[in-house]
Amino acid sequence: MLKPIFLDHNATTPISSHIKSYWGQLLEECAGNASSVHGGGRKPKQWIRQTRQALAKFLAVNPLELIFTSGASEANNTVINTWLHEIRKSPRKTILSTSVEHPSIMEALRQAQERGDCVWKQIPVCRDRGFDWQVFEQLLDDSVFGVTTMFVNNETGYIFPLTAIAEKVHANHSLMHSDVTQAFGKIELPLTHCDYFSFSAHKAYALKGCGILGVKKSSPYHNLIWGGAQERYRRAGTENVLAIASLGLVLPDLNPESQSKVTSLRDYFEKHLLERLPNISITHVQQLRTGNTSHLLIAGVDGESLLMSLDLKGYAVSTGAACSSGSSEPSPVLLALGFSKAEAQQSLRVSFGIYNQLSEVDSFIDALESTVKHLRKINVQGGQHDTK
Ligand code: PMP
Repeated sequence: MLKPIFLDHNATTPISSHIKSYWGQLLEECAGNASSVHGGGRKPKQWIRQTRQALAKFLAVNPLELIFTSGASEANNTVINTWLHEIRKSPRKTILSTSVEHPSIMEALRQAQERGDCVWKQIPVCRDRGFDWQVFEQLLDDSVFGVTTMFVNNETGYIFPLTAIAEKVHANHSLMHSDVTQAFGKIELPLTHCDYFSFSAHKAYALKGCGILGVKKSSPYHNLIWGGAQERYRRAGTENVLAIASLGLVLPDLNPESQSKVTSLRDYFEKHLLERLPNISITHVQQLRTGNTSHLLIAGVDGESLLMSLDLKGYAVSTGAACSSGSSEPSPVLLALGFSKAEAQQSLRVSFGIYNQLSEVDSFIDALESTVKHLRKINVQGGQHDTK
């Protein structure tokens, strides 16, 4: 089979060609332990320092506010862990999150609430209107210690009004965290409004195993991982130097020109798909979305069957978040947005990236059209759906 056409960039991204051109040098120079006092530690230490500086400049933050982690999941867990520590000695016991956060937030909060370590309340997000301001403002009272809101949703690409949310949170004297994993490198990040932020390098053409936790100097912090002196005693464990170095190398690729190319591919895809296939709706089309994501409801087609047929034809797409796929249950995010179970099972996520070409999009539209028509025909013959 030919190399698959990769349209699942919200799950992970291909490794940047820039990294590939440095590969030999990276393998040689990142092999040592950055904590070694002998010469073997020098280059790894240099790569970490260099990446921290470059990233701080890219994000317009203080380099000392950046902590390298294993990924966004660890960074998110660390923030929740920090807040739980602080909540013990605070009269404020409530943490607010949106109803569509990544499981590394939702599960951490669910377990904390179950243990009685905090009160967790969710701010609804709805498929038609997005973030529910009314409920948010009702919930935001003097019991709230912190609020965690992703900047961009991984399944739909919806962009949360983060700046306006953070202003309200700070006016309430609460702390603000944002999981910016799906926004990093795609849109400008309002980080000056966040006390904490997190993301994963592998969503932006770098290697897996490196994440960033940003913590403002004035914000409370508690380690999740204890041990050595790495990251100024804030995150123990030998650094994944190779992955960290790779993150520094992708930064030049993450520019507005490459992102506008991605957006034009996504818009081209949606326009031509809607012209060629009836009964398709695009989630959050009336709201702000990142330019790379197209979340589709395709009536009369089971998303899993569609995904598998497309996979066999050489196209990699997704029915939802990679972390929850493999389960036959519909995505909790889609259910939280107000989709029925049946609707959630008819969804497809197509997420574009900087290496996609127009010819790939054209061939994907052809494949999607023929596969959907075929599956709809089978379903009608089987009497499952009326697709018209
Ligand atoms: N947050 C969001 C919004 C994500 O999309 C992901 C990855 N799906 C994560 C956190 C977790 O990233 P990782 O698996 O790299 O820790």
